[in-house]
Amino acid sequence: MAGPESGLGPLIIDHLEAHSMSKSTSNKAAPSSGTRRAGRPCVFLDRDGVVTREAGYLNHPDRLELLPGSAGAIRRLNERGILTVVTTNQSGIARGYFTEAVLAKTHRRLRKLLAERGARLDAIYHAPMHPQAKDPALRRDPDAMRKPGTGMIQLARKRFRIDMSRAWVVGDRTGDMELARNAGIGSVFVLSGYGLGEYEYHRREWAVQPDHICANLAEAARWIAGELRRRPQTKK
Ligand SMILES: [Mg+2]
Repeated sequence: MAGPESGLGPLIIDHLEAHSMSKSTSNKAAPSSGTRRAGRPCVFLDRDGVVTREAGYLNHPDRLELLPGSAGAIRRLNERGILTVVTTNQSGIARGYFTEAVLAKTHRRLRKLLAERGARLDAIYHAPMHPQAKDPALRRDPDAMRKPGTGMIQLARKRFRIDMSRAWVVGDRTGDMELARNAGIGSVFVLSGYGLGEYEYHRREWAVQPDHICANLAEAARWIAGELRRRPQTKK
C-alpha cells in the first residue's frame, strides 16, 4: 500500500492529551514511599479490531468505526471505576501513510463517538515508530513503545495509580498477549478484528496463551468484571 508522504513531526505519544487530563483527575501516580492504598484496576485496550473496526491503515478520521457493543463495554468499565487505556501501534506514521495530525483527529473522533454513547477512555497512547521508518528518528524505539514492548503501559503507570495485579490487556493479536506477558499482567484475547483468523489458523504457534478467549470487548469486559469480584484488592 502506498501512502502519501507525511510531514513526520516530533514523536508525540499523546503527550499533550495526557498532560491535560492528568490535571483534571486525582489518579496521579502515588508518591514512591510510605504505605498507601493500592491503585485502580485497569484494562489496556488495543484499538483496531477491539474498540474499532479493523480497517488496515486508518488514513482518514472518517474511516474510523466503533465495533458494535464496544462503547457499551467501555461505559460499563467506566461505571465500575476500571481505568480504560488504549495502547495502539500506529506504524502508519513511520511508513508515511498518515501524519500525527491525522491520528490526533482520528482519536478526537473516537472520543466523540464514545462520548455520544456515554463512554470515556482515560488515555490513548500510540507508538508511531517502526524499524523500516522513512524518518530515521522513527526507526528508534529506546523506550520499547511499540507493542509488545511495554513503554506505553509504563507511561500509563506514571500517570495513573494502577493496581497491576488487577490489570489486563485486551487484544485481537498475539502481540497483545505478548505485551501482557512482558508487563506481567493478565490477557484477554478477542475474536473480533484479526482475532478469529489468528485463533483458527495460528494459535498453535502462539508464544503466549491468553488467560481468556472470548468473542468481543463486551464479553471481555464482563469476564474482567467477574475476575475483579473474585480478586480482593491488594494492599501495598
Ligand atoms: Mg488490533
